[in-house]
Amino acid sequence: MSNFNGLMVEANLIGGRWVGSDAGGTINVINPATGEVIGTVPNGGTDETNRAIAAANAAFPDWSKSNLMTRVTLLHSLHDALMDNQEDLAQLLTAEQGKPIFEARGEIAIGAAYIRWFAEEIRRAKGEIVPAPTADRRLLVTHHPVGVVAAITPWNFPSSMLARKLGPALAAGCTVVAKPATATPYSGLVWGKLCEDVGFPAGVVNIVTGSARQVGGAIMDSPDVRKVTFTGSTEVGKTLIRQSADTVKKVSMELGGNAPFIVFDDADVDAAIEGAMIAKFRNMGQTCVCTNRFYVQAGIHDAFVAKLKEAVAALVVGNGAEDGVQQGPLIDDGAVTKVEELISDAKSKGGNVVQGGKRHGNGGTFFEPTIITGATDDMQFATDEIFGPLAAVFKFDDEAEAIEAANATEYGLAAYAYTRDLGRTFRLNDGLDYGLIGINSGLITTVEAPFGGLKESGMGKEGGSQGLDDYLETKYMCVAGLSS
Ligand code: NAP
Repeated sequence: MSNFNGLMVEANLIGGRWVGSDAGGTINVINPATGEVIGTVPNGGTDETNRAIAAANAAFPDWSKSNLMTRVTLLHSLHDALMDNQEDLAQLLTAEQGKPIFEARGEIAIGAAYIRWFAEEIRRAKGEIVPAPTADRRLLVTHHPVGVVAAITPWNFPSSMLARKLGPALAAGCTVVAKPATATPYSGLVWGKLCEDVGFPAGVVNIVTGSARQVGGAIMDSPDVRKVTFTGSTEVGKTLIRQSADTVKKVSMELGGNAPFIVFDDADVDAAIEGAMIAKFRNMGQTCVCTNRFYVQAGIHDAFVAKLKEAVAALVVGNGAEDGVQQGPLIDDGAVTKVEELISDAKSKGGNVVQGGKRHGNGGTFFEPTIITGATDDMQFATDEIFGPLAAVFKFDDEAEAIEAANATEYGLAAYAYTRDLGRTFRLNDGLDYGLIGINSGLITTVEAPFGGLKESGMGKEGGSQGLDDYLETKYMCVAGLSS
């Protein structure tokens, strides 16, 4: 079995030591394309997490006071280490997560880009000297690292979601305890190895795998953890927000989505199809910014559906490790069952399956890329996050109706629209209750821009100049008596 050029680490990193779990238990990691066990990782719990928090806490005083250029240089080295190992890291990511290898290469690259971005951005994290009301005073506003940060990440982007948290935390001078998703722990653990290889001091980055409840519980109970940054489901996010109250932790939450994709009559249909394929079928529909609901205006509806069907039918389904594959397996059987339930619910309410609709002949957790037309508001996918390769197409007549339907969800992460009407573009910007809006593009995530949802899709931003804010405390100091 490949160990991906030494990058598949099967231990936890606590205080600069690679260790197993205290009780010695392990968890199998499965390749979703083959069903094979790739390896095992420690089944860590409360004790391991408390030791990781203690190590991060002990490392904080020195790290938080380290030279800015020490941190910047280490982060640039980390970026380079990622890119030097891009191919092996991508293969490891595909082996445990299932996404096509070209997408995995892209995920490693954007993760590295986030690290570089925050290495640059921390150099501009300026404070202020505020005009004082009297001549004998000077008022200073300064920024300081928040302290120990806990980072909890999901399986769908197991590398880049951690990059968005490690980058700003380490740049700001925080120390970290990370908990990767159990389905995809290797892409998280390898960050520990790379940080160690490039010279981050022991205890600055700690990584614990294992029981979500125990690891999460220890993190949330600890008064030493000053901030929790979480990417995952809205349900778990709400639990963590509640648990954060007792120790008044800062929280940032990147939660679920239910993205609308609106195609107006004046759209360039070919461009809309290209955007639709990325926004719907990237990572087999398992991204938080994936389209959940297509709203297509009546005049263009049939032409759009015909072209979408052609494009979806052409998707190559297979083991993501093979070049040329565009759709891998879903993460597990639960994900497949959910898509099956959504399809059967839609069919029972009058939806038409015009493409796909069932498990793929490859077996396992492969599923046929699917299109359902005649979608209506009472169908389950109108409100639930699909997280699978199912495109639900609703028909609409006018702009106001489309905006109202798009907003009719508790989520507010990403929305897309295709139109050539400039006035409408700005009406959409005002009208759509979403943190990310793509006009004439189905792929808008970039390190330079703030990423984050509104409503129950979360709080806080990752990336952009805003991405550092949550990792820095602001202090105000008044220096008085200067004229005496
Ligand atoms: P999840 O079930 O909420 O799990 C996310 C992480 O939280 C995992 O590491 C999980 O550990 C951990 N966890 C679960 N229960 C916990 C608890 N009680 N306390 C502490 N940690 C706990 O989400 P997922 O299924 O991995 O990911 C899919 C979801 O993430 C979707 O809803 C998607 O939209 C969202 N997402 C959002 C963004 C964004 O930027 N807004 C990006 C990507 C994904 P285990 O793996 O051990 O259960």
